[in-house]
Amino acid sequence: MRRPLVAGNWKMYETTAEARILISELLPGLSGIQGVDIVICPPFTSILPVASLLVGSGLGLGAQNMHWEASGAFTGEVSAPMLAEFCNYVIIGHSERRAYFGESDKLVNLKVKAALTHGMIPIMCIGETLDENEAGRTTEVVTRQVQSGLEGVNPASIVIAYEPVWAIGTGRAATAEGANQVLADLRQVISRIYDQDFAQEVRILYGGSVKASNAGEFFRQSDIDGALVGGASLKASEFVAIAKAAAG
Ligand code: PEP
Repeated sequence: MRRPLVAGNWKMYETTAEARILISELLPGLSGIQGVDIVICPPFTSILPVASLLVGSGLGLGAQNMHWEASGAFTGEVSAPMLAEFCNYVIIGHSERRAYFGESDKLVNLKVKAALTHGMIPIMCIGETLDENEAGRTTEVVTRQVQSGLEGVNPASIVIAYEPVWAIGTGRAATAEGANQVLADLRQVISRIYDQDFAQEVRILYGGSVKASNAGEFFRQSDIDGALVGGASLKASEFVAIAKAAAG
């Protein structure tokens, strides 16, 4: 049995003052939920205040990105050991980073390795664009992203988030059955890289316009182990309802 995971990606929203308010709204609803790993991923500036507000809550804390080197002359960047002081998860290769900041599969692979080296669980994002989807290239694209992203990575505590780019922030979610099929196919790819046991153990999330009203449909699917939630993670009642749906 894979334990469900629901992660909220706050993207570049919430000042520290706003983050404190959002956490105070989230905590009462989230604290009683059993059987689900719940992770909050605020922007860098709010990681420290959110970390102190989450102490004793049982909730996980994640970053949204990081550099692959542990330290160095990389102005403006933040490294894995810096984040690992506060975070137990880190989102790697989100499609917005791939599209706007030129992150390649190779870079994603370096970052996945760095996260693991420093004891954080990478949430590695993959997903096809609308053009790739319409050209029937979904399997080819996500297979390549998984193979490259996990190259040289030992079977470890990793999480994969399948996020079709056309479904992110658009209000146009994939169908639950369609997403489930992609995830089932991905488990086959993972079983060829590692083995069948690891393919059955690894948690794969769906992401893309998940909200309270459609979350249950995704979580009922056999291969979907939770969600990476963007917009709806900024509304306490929505995110709490999504986390509750994952608890079943
Ligand atoms: C995301 O940012 O990873 C995401 C899935 O966004 P949204 O839920 O807003 O589509």
